[in-house]
Parts: sequence; structure tokens; C-alpha cells
Amino acid sequence: MTLTIVTMKNYRIYPHLFFALLLLFTWVNSGCKFLPSTHLEKASKHEELIAIKEVTLLPMTKDGKPIEKATIVIKGNKIISINEPIPSSAKVINGKGKFLIPGLIDMHVHTPTDGHFNATFPTHVASIFKSTQDIMTPYLANGVTTIFELNAMAGHFGQRNEILSGNIMGPRMALAALINGGNGSGRIANTPEEGRVAVRMAKADGYEFIKVYSQLNKETFYAIVEEAKQQNLKVIGHLPKAFKGNTIQAFVTNFGMVAHAEEIYKQLENEESDKLVQILQLAKQNGTWICPTLYVISAIARQSSTLDSLSYLHCLPYVHPLLQSKWLSANNYAKNATPNSITRLHKMMEFNKLLVSLCKEMGIPMVAGTDAGTSGVVWGFSLHEELKLLVDAGLSPMEALSTATRLPAIWLGLEGYLGTIEVGKFADLILLDANPLVDIENTKKIAGVFLNGKWISKQQIKKMLHTLASHNESLKNKYNWSNRNTY
Ligand SMILES: [Zn+2]
Repeated sequence: MTLTIVTMKNYRIYPHLFFALLLLFTWVNSGCKFLPSTHLEKASKHEELIAIKEVTLLPMTKDGKPIEKATIVIKGNKIISINEPIPSSAKVINGKGKFLIPGLIDMHVHTPTDGHFNATFPTHVASIFKSTQDIMTPYLANGVTTIFELNAMAGHFGQRNEILSGNIMGPRMALAALINGGNGSGRIANTPEEGRVAVRMAKADGYEFIKVYSQLNKETFYAIVEEAKQQNLKVIGHLPKAFKGNTIQAFVTNFGMVAHAEEIYKQLENEESDKLVQILQLAKQNGTWICPTLYVISAIARQSSTLDSLSYLHCLPYVHPLLQSKWLSANNYAKNATPNSITRLHKMMEFNKLLVSLCKEMGIPMVAGTDAGTSGVVWGFSLHEELKLLVDAGLSPMEALSTATRLPAIWLGLEGYLGTIEVGKFADLILLDANPLVDIENTKKIAGVFLNGKWISKQQIKKMLHTLASHNESLKNKYNWSNRNTY
């Protein structure tokens, strides 16, 4: 969108033109209802030309078939041509035998920020500092170039600014403010008016989306969804417990997405099975999408059975040592597990699979999200596991890829900028060594990542992961979950 700047001189001479342009600008702006503006134009300090030749391109547009032996040219942070001559000044990457897909989007993450567990005083803001690069490296190593932060806090704005400034390599971040009921800490609303105020304050603070949570009462939930509509904010979240028995009442228009498949399981547990189809019909009618988050439940089920599943996790070294300590020594999933709870988790996994196949059948859009940050669910790595589980649940590899590229870009209102490989879009791309349409697990075979037009090769990724793992290892003696209150 180009913004027309009207000078004061124009204003004096052409007052009508000024107001006409103002009106036009307001109209154009309101047309892009949900466009989060701040995290789009990441600083691109380079105007370098890079071409990839002879690559198999998976554009991931709605009907776009793979394009073989394609040439793609990137200038700065944008894709400037597909299948046109390579400019002589371009650096050329040979894509022969390789596959190019859009950068992946994880629609449900919880990214760690700086903080403390101790009583605070006015100048004491954080005592546990995490290197933002260390936090972001697992995302970019896995080609996750956009994330949707579903419990965003002030620290995430700071991280996003560091990425925007170009000092840190990391994904684009969309931020949702969480609103819950009850009497815990955080953004709490127990009356419709409190709900409306919470939405308006979240908007004023710069959040682009609202996440509704489990303890909200019905009236407050409705008020939040309604106020968010007034404020042009989309709503994602849990199905509040208050709707149990009347789940269908939670499916109102502008409730944009259910954040977990098991939210529906928990609501319908011990109810008649025909209610599920009724709910999904209403979801379809209202345009409510589903973010199944399959991997997190399988990870919880595994660690409920044995913590060995965690200690052998190949990506554990990339987790901050304080969290490693928490996951291994104070793991509530393992601590509270009973044979019944484990059976229930397995039932949930079966239900989640069924839900995915029903949504596919009924044409309800789904997006890939992982709840990364939950114990055993490691940022970036988890998205590839989610894609595999979506395929196991009945999606084709192409459909699974859409849930992490084109579809989330649409839900976030960013489809004009990312999610597909097209001229004019940001160069957020993954070069793969093998075809993900043959085996979805080939998304893990990363030859390199383009992050906002910057090429990061497999060797560089390896080096970054190595640095991160050794950094975490060196901090292991410093951080222990049981001592957290002394930090
Ligand atoms: Zn979550």
C-alpha cells in the first residue's frame, strides 16, 4: 500500500483534494482490516541480487503446480522475477535436484523472553536474560520465518524490534494478547465491560490479535469477541470451560480460530458424537478455522509415560538450560500422570486425527501450529513434526504444506506479502534437498533458508546451532529450575 503524502501547501491550495485523499486513504486502510503493519518491513540492509536456477519450485498458490527447472531472482528482501533471465550481477545458487518452498509459519508458539521469578522493585525488570539470537536460531534453522505468538507480552515487542532493526536474525512475529477470566495474574476479565476494556487496552498496547482463554465466562467471552470485531482484531483461542455442555454457543462469528483440536475433545468428552458435526458445520458457516496442534499432545503423552522421551530429544540442547532443567526435573505432565490420564491423552490423539480428517472433508481451513515452548515441544523443530502428523491424519503432503504457508498467511491478513512464492512477495524461502510432496519429512532436509532475502546456508545453520548448543551447555551450571526464585 502506498501512502500519499499531502504537503501543507497542497492542503492550503487544494483543501478538497486533501480531504478526498484522506477519505481514500482511510478507505484503503479499512479494506486491509487485519493487516498488522509493524512487523512487515524488516530492515533489508542489502540490495543484493541472488538467483536460484534449475530448482523445482513449489509456489504453494491455490492451484499452483510445481514448476520444474525454474529460475527465481531475489533482490534485497523481495522476489523480483520467476523464470526470467538472470541479471548478470546476480549471485547464482544452483538449485538442480532441489526444491524451493515458502518459509514456514508456526501459528501457535510461546517464545521465551527475559524475566525473573522473584519479588520485584521499580528498577528490577529482569534477572534472567536470554540472548534473542539464541531464542530465534531454532526457528530459522528450521525454516520457520513467521510465528504467531499466542501469549504475547512486552518482551516480545522488544524481540521483534531487535529483528526488525536487522541486528538479530529471526522470524516475523505476529502478536496476540491473551485475555482470561478467573483471578489469576495477567489480562483478566470477568464482566463484559472488563472484557471490552481489555480488548481496547490490548489494541492500544499494539497487539494485533486477541487470544481468548479457558476461564472466561460466557458473557465476557461474547463481549470480547464483539469488541474485537469493533476494533478490527481477529480472535483465536480456547473454548472456555463455561461452554461445556453447550459448546455450539461458543461458535459465534468473528471467533476466528480454535487454537487446539483437543479444545473440542474436552468440550465433547462424554457427549453424543453427532454434536461434533453440528459444531463443525457452524464453524464452517462462521468462517472459524482450526489450528489442530497435534504434536504437543503426542509430546505430552510421551513424557507422561517416560521422561526418557525428553532426555533423548535430539533438539533438547537448543533449549535454554533453565527450561531444560524445568522440563526434566519439574515436569508436571510426568509428575501428575496416571494410567487413566495417559489413556485419555491417547484418546485425545485419536480424536484430533478424526477432527483433522472431518475438517478436510467439510472444507474447514486448518493451519499448522505447535504450541512450541510447552515442554518437549522445541521451537522450529516442532513444526516439521506437526506437518508429519497432519499427513498421518489424512492430509496430502501438499495440503499439509498449505497449512504452514498459504493458509496461515491468509488468516493473518498477510497473504499479499508471504505464504506463497510469487513476484513481489518477501523472500522468505526454504531450499530443500528432497521433494516434500513425496515424503513430508523431506521438509527437514534443509539446504538453506532465505530469511527476508538473506541466504543462510546449511553450513551456516549448522554453525549457528552448534554455537547455541555450546552456549546452553556453558550455562547449565548457572541455571537450575529449583533455584529460580533466587535469580
Ligand atoms: Zn499455546
